[in-house]
Amino acid sequence: MANPFSLEGKVALVTGANTGIGQGIAIALAAAGADIAAAGRSEPTETQKAVEALGRKFLSIKADFGSIEPVQRVVDETVAAFGKADILVNNAGIIRRADSIEFSEADWDAVMDTNLKVVFFLTQAFAKQALKQGGGKVINIASLLSFQGGIRVPSYTAAKSGLAGLTKILANEWATKGINVNAIAPGYFDTNNTEALRADQDRNAAILARIPAARWGRPEDIGGAAVFLASSASDYVQGITLPVDGGWLAR
Ligand code: NAP
Repeated sequence: MANPFSLEGKVALVTGANTGIGQGIAIALAAAGADIAAAGRSEPTETQKAVEALGRKFLSIKADFGSIEPVQRVVDETVAAFGKADILVNNAGIIRRADSIEFSEADWDAVMDTNLKVVFFLTQAFAKQALKQGGGKVINIASLLSFQGGIRVPSYTAAKSGLAGLTKILANEWATKGINVNAIAPGYFDTNNTEALRADQDRNAAILARIPAARWGRPEDIGGAAVFLASSASDYVQGITLPVDGGWLAR
C-alpha cells in the first residue's frame, strides 16, 4: 500500500518560510517529499539549504503580503517553475500589541490585511490553479486566538478567529471539488512573534505554568500536523482548525 503521508511529486507554496513556524513546515513538507516554493519578503537562505539538503527543489519568490498586490504573481511564479501547485500554506502573519482602549487604526488594518485579507485572495488565486489540476490542499495557520480571546491583541484575535471561519466556508464550497481547506492552531511557539512574551518574566512563567507539556513549542513540533493536512491521509478532513498546543486548550 502506498504511504498516505507521502508528498512525493507534490509542490508546496509556503508563505513566510524564512523563519519560525513557516520554516518548520517547509522543511517537514520537503522531508515528506514535496518541492517548495517559499514566498515572502526576507530571503529564506537557511530554509533553502535545509530543503535542498533533503534532495528537494526550492524556489524563492519575493513578495510583501502587506497587500494583495503579489498574490496572482506568487501562484504564477510557482506554476512557471514547477508546472503546478498542489499545497498552499498560509503562514505569513504579524501581531500588534496594545490595550484595546487605545488601539490604532493602523495596527488594526495592518494585521487584518496580512493575516486575513491577503490569505483569502492568495487562497482564491491558488484555488483557481488547483481546480484546473483536479484538487489541492490549503493549510491556514490560525492560533489559539481562533478559539480564545487573548489580551491586548484585538486585531490579531479578530483576524485569527475570522481565519477559522474562512477555513470552514472555503471547505464547504470546495470539498466536492477535490480541495481540502483546514487550519492548524499553534499554541505558544518560540519564534519572533512571541519574543515580547518570553521577555516578560511574569508572562513567560504564567504561560509555561498553563501548558500541560510545560514548554514552548518548537518549529519542528508543527511539521507532523502540516504533513497530515497536506497529504492524502487527510482527504476526508475538511474545515477543521487543529490545535498543536502542548495541551493548552485541554486545561
Ligand atoms: P515569525 O517568526 O514572526 O514569522 C512570521 C513570518 O511571516 C515571517 O516569515 C515574516 O517575514 C512573514 N511576514 C510577516 N509580514 C509579512 C509581509 N508583509 N510580507 C511577507 N511576509 C511577511 O512568527 P511565527 O510565530 O513563525 O508566525 C508564523 C505564523 O504562525 C503567523 O501567522 C502567526 O500568527 C502564527 N502563530 C504563531 C504562534 C506562536 O506562538 N509563535 C502562535 C499561533 C500562531 P519576515 O521574517 O520578513 O518578517
